[in-house]
Amino acid sequence: MTTIRIPYGRQSISDQDIDAVIRILKSDFLTTGPTIDAFERAVAEYCGARYAVAVANASVALQLACRVLDLGPGQSLWTTPNTFVASANCADHCGARIDFCDIDPSTLNLSVKTLEAKLAATPAHQHPRVVVPVHFAGQPCDMEELGTLSQKYGFKIVEDAAHAIGAEYKGEKIGGCRHSAMTVFSFHPVKNITTGEGGMITTNDENLYVRLRELRTLGITRDPNRMSRPCPGPWYYEQLEVGYNFRMTDLEAALGLSQLQRLDQFIGRRQELVDTYNQSLHDLPLKLPTVTPARKSAHHLYVVEVLSEARKDRAQVFQELREAGIGVNVHYIPVHLQPVYRKQGFQEGDFPKAEGYYQRALSLPIYFDLSSEEQQFVIARLRHILT
Ligand SMILES: *Cc1c(COP(=O)(O)O)cnc(C)c1O
Repeated sequence: MTTIRIPYGRQSISDQDIDAVIRILKSDFLTTGPTIDAFERAVAEYCGARYAVAVANASVALQLACRVLDLGPGQSLWTTPNTFVASANCADHCGARIDFCDIDPSTLNLSVKTLEAKLAATPAHQHPRVVVPVHFAGQPCDMEELGTLSQKYGFKIVEDAAHAIGAEYKGEKIGGCRHSAMTVFSFHPVKNITTGEGGMITTNDENLYVRLRELRTLGITRDPNRMSRPCPGPWYYEQLEVGYNFRMTDLEAALGLSQLQRLDQFIGRRQELVDTYNQSLHDLPLKLPTVTPARKSAHHLYVVEVLSEARKDRAQVFQELREAGIGVNVHYIPVHLQPVYRKQGFQEGDFPKAEGYYQRALSLPIYFDLSSEEQQFVIARLRHILT
């Protein structure tokens, strides 16, 4: 195995980030303290949402979001096959059925037209209770159109914005939940800001917010107004539902709060890297990513598609870049083709757009600390391999 000198993505940790975490280590609260509240308020304010709930990671955030929408057995959740497995797993965690809806090849996001056709062709009792659009690579989905369909067909929308903190749709930040019930963010180190492990759910719905907070901590409340019996004293708490320990620590929240202050700078640098790739690669047999008008991408990934007229196929290009120490990657293996979902009956040909795209997809390195020299090295290798 060649050593990867340039990964496809990585965190950027500053002295300010480190100091923020050390301050928490020396404080009274390592978890469930005031820094969690501060991070939640900061994310809510940044996104323009009324509420935010910090959790252990985005996978459990998706699970919790589905749970508070009362997704359960006999119901279904639809998402895109072009995503990380977590966007689909949340259905099974709630005992619900999963189904997928193919992508729009121009945006690589869930196709609203395909969704509309599938809804129209599906008997009402099999309509989804929840739809999870994923803002792939940081590019916002067609939220207005999805919102219209959600009203017409009565499903709830949970936005998977693991790639998209800082992205904008029609002048508003993703996470403001104008067209959705909730939005979920991830703070894994490859994402646009990190807490190590971590996730956040934003919403404008107070009832969802209260249940998300309770279920994050085992289903417990200390609010006398939520209790079923008179509160006998300050020691008393009640468990209202069977919840989970899905909490984030204050150490993680402190890192997140510090990283959030750097987010716009991070995205600015990602935009520069995208512009350079776009200018340098346009004459190669590659399909380059585009951003639809009225959207600002968070540029979490830079995905090119190796076209059929190229001298080499994607697998060869991937291999040769890896041999040069460049950690290219593939986002994503269509989720319905994972063995666990094949067992439920999904197979090749079910979602041809996502499957075709997958054969061509290649994620090039993009992250804040990627230097211009490193990027030029990636561009030169790719040009050499393809010409
Ligand atoms: C990373 C990712 C997740 C899961 O995030 P974790 O915080 O690692 O659990 C979910 N959905 C998408 C699209 C992702 O990229």
